Amino acid sequence: MRVLITNDDGISSPGLAALVHAFEPVAEVIVVAPEHERSATGHAITLHKPLRAAAAGIPGSAVRAWATNGTPADCVALGMLDLLEERPDVVISGINVGPNMGRDLTYSGTVSGAMEGAIFRVPSIAVSIGAFRNPIFTVAAGFAVQLAQAILREGLPEDTLLNVNVPNLPRAEIRGVAITRQGTKRYISRLEKRSDPRGRTYYWLTGEPAPQQDEEGTDSWALAQGQISVTPIGLDLTSERLRETLSRWVLRVPGGGEGVVP
Ligand code: MN
Repeated sequence: MRVLITNDDGISSPGLAALVHAFEPVAEVIVVAPEHERSATGHAITLHKPLRAAAAGIPGSAVRAWATNGTPADCVALGMLDLLEERPDVVISGINVGPNMGRDLTYSGTVSGAMEGAIFRVPSIAVSIGAFRNPIFTVAAGFAVQLAQAILREGLPEDTLLNVNVPNLPRAEIRGVAITRQGTKRYISRLEKRSDPRGRTYYWLTGEPAPQQDEEGTDSWALAQGQISVTPIGLDLTSERLRETLSRWVLRVPGGGEGVVP
């Protein structure tokens, strides 16, 4: 098995090292990761400045690794288009420190790294740990290996990927694996407005989880139960429900007589 590992916490993140150490005994591992943290950069790619990749090392490991000035999506593209000599069997993005559930998916660089893998038609997994402090990576890393091996056996349909969130608990306290759907957990954005030493206003965007009930069967619900959440994600963002509704609206070309073709 050949795996391409990326993340959005940066190449020095202990979550990335944990993945590398878990995969190294069973796979050929190549790392292409941002040189510093690029969390919440979503699926941004770099089109207006040069991309650079420098050879790097992962502590305690002999794998080939590159640190880039790009986003997670850039890293996957750099790996696929030049740095890797052969196509990987799986792209793995993580292990992110902090969950990527519900509305997080839109902002997540971790998930976007895996989405970019899926766009390159490589089966891809995003892995995140459900806490921002004192992360325990062992279970998440071991589960990622197991999932990659299952994907090698079973394959994944085109335009899909897996989003994994692991409770930040010791192995003995984790209560199984749940196949979930994307929930609606979101953050309430807040703006800190301050003055810099020169008296000019600056803003700092922040937020906290919105108080809400986790609906059964969702990613955040599973995590709250102490279960590993595996959410199948599709690249197709069409809302079928809204497509039906929209088809009943009367929309015309301005100045013309043509309605919507059903
Ligand atoms: Mn991150």
